[in-house]
Formats: sequence, structure tokens, C-alpha cells
Amino acid sequence: MAARILEGKVYAQKLKEDAGKKAAELREKYGMAPGLAVIIVGENPASQVYVRNKHKSCEELGISSEVISMPEESTKEELLARIDDLNGDTKIHGILVQLPLPKQIAAYEAEILNRIAPEKDVDGFHPVNVGRLVTGEAGLVPCTPAGCIRMLDMAGIPLDGKRAVVIGRSNIVGKPMFHLLLARHATVTVCHSHTANLAEITREADILVAAIGKPNFVTADMVKPGAAVIDVGINRIAPKKLMGDVDFEQVKEVAGAITPVPGGVGLLTVAMLMQNVVKAMEMQMQA
Ligand code: NDP
Repeated sequence: MAARILEGKVYAQKLKEDAGKKAAELREKYGMAPGLAVIIVGENPASQVYVRNKHKSCEELGISSEVISMPEESTKEELLARIDDLNGDTKIHGILVQLPLPKQIAAYEAEILNRIAPEKDVDGFHPVNVGRLVTGEAGLVPCTPAGCIRMLDMAGIPLDGKRAVVIGRSNIVGKPMFHLLLARHATVTVCHSHTANLAEITREADILVAAIGKPNFVTADMVKPGAAVIDVGINRIAPKKLMGDVDFEQVKEVAGAITPVPGGVGLLTVAMLMQNVVKAMEMQMQA
């Protein structure tokens, strides 16, 4: 039987509605909207599209949004000074530096991201937030893996006691995904490019998360019948054609549930960013 298709649009809409409702409550309570500042350095066209989408979502939900465009040739010091200003601005609750950075400052990416105050780090990349995720304390969690968990919950797919396998161990997807699944009492294995007998491991998964960056990498023979397959991959294979890490056409005949690409996890990421901005304001107001 063909798998249930988990449409990102449906779940992203729910997450956004929820964020919009909370934003309205915060405006009512504190006389101020949650505020997001996005810094974009240079003219990368893909980054500009992402930043526009974030700005548009904020406007729809009553979240105040400021886009700070800095010239391509900006120095590390100039960028750090801008982050410092935003860290001290009480109307701004979330700060995000759009990646990738131009080449003259790309090597300082960690230093730049770590300059964002942890309580305003709505990407959840700061080591303080990473530590909180690992130890199970409240903090800001990276948007894409957090969105995957929220989608699984909304789809009624249980995690407790299940076998979960994550392919990919990046700091922004694979590792936080591991911690989030573990916190929900799944038994989790993380695979990567050195993993031996990968298909044997993935075939054990009730929940299989693919975050690899290789089109059609996960094939039907790697999937346990009835598994929930979450495809995080976004691979641009032609100017207007995106493909996931999972061979959707084959795997949907074996899986119990599957996310499409495009139209799956990608849509949840911006929705979770909106949730994180609201959460950041709540945490700052309660501190
Ligand atoms: P990275 O390149 O940082 O990580 C890829 C991971 O895949 C690495 O851990 C790597 O292993 C592993 N890998 C590579 N080849 C193999 C292989 N042959 N077998 C097993 N594992 C392998 O990518 P990201 O985590 O940043 O992103 C992954 C994908 O998700 C990309 O397509 C990206 O575009 C997409 N993405 C989508 C988002 C969304 O909003 N939906 C957000 C973020 C990312 P090793 O560590 O050993 O190198």
C-alpha cells in the first residue's frame, strides 16, 4: 500500500497559526511584538529569497521583522559590531545571520554566530543552546530538526520506544535530530559517510531521517515496510528542479509515511523559525 504523504504545507500552516496566536498574546501582554532581525551580507540570490520568505512570514504573523543588508565587502569587525547592537536592542528578540557568508569572512563563521546572545539565537546554533539541547534544558533548538519532530507529532507518529535512524551528523540537522529523538525516548542510531552496512541499519528504522545532501540516496531496499521516512535533503539538480535525499517514487511504495521534496520539511523550517522568535521573546520576558 502506498505511503501516507506528509504534506509540509499542512503542518507548516498549523505551526504558523500557533506562532501568530502566541505573537498576538505577547503583543497584548507586553505592548510590543516579538522582533526578528536578519542580517544578510552581500548579494547571494538564494539567500535573498530565503530572507524575503522569512520577512514575509513575520509580516503575516504579526512578528516585527528587520532585514539588515550589509555590503559584500563587510569586515568581520563590522558584522560583529552590528550583532552587538542587536544583542542590546530590547525590541529585537531573535537574531539570525543568513549563511553562507562572503568568502573574506566565511572562515570566521563560528565566531560570528557565537557572538549572537544565546537567548536571541533563533537558529539554535550557539554552543550554549547546543549544550541545553544535549542536557535537556529549555533553550532554542535548530529549526529544521525541531520542525521534523513537530510534524511527526502532529501526524500522530509515535516516537517513544521506536527505532529511529538518522543519516547525517551535521550540527544543523543530524546531531540535533539525534538529541531530539533521544529526548522523546526513541532508540536512535546516527549514520554517516563512514558507516558500514548502512542499508542493514536503515532497514531497522521505524523512523528514518535522511539529511545527507545526495539526490535519491535512500532507495526502497533501505526502508522497513511501514516506516515513517523524513526527507530533509534539498538538492538542486536543475535551475528549477529540487530533489530530496530519498527516492520518493520507489520509497513511497514501501514506507508507511513519507515527506515529499519539495513541499515537505523545507516548509517547516521557516514555520519553526517563527515559533523560535516567539519562544525567544517569552523566555526573555520571563527572565
Ligand atoms: P552536511 O553536508 O553538513 O552533512 C551531510 C551528512 O551526510 C554528513 O554527516 C555526511 O557524513 C553524511 N553523508 C554523506 N555521504 C554519505 C553516505 N554516502 N552515507 C552516509 N552518510 C553520508 O549537510 P546538512 O546536514 O547541512 O544538510 C543535509 C541536507 O539537508 C542537504 O541536502 C541540505 O540542503 C538539506 N537541508 C535542508 C533544510 C531544510 O530546511 N529542509 C535545512 C538544512 C539542510 P560525514 O559526516 O561522514 O561527512
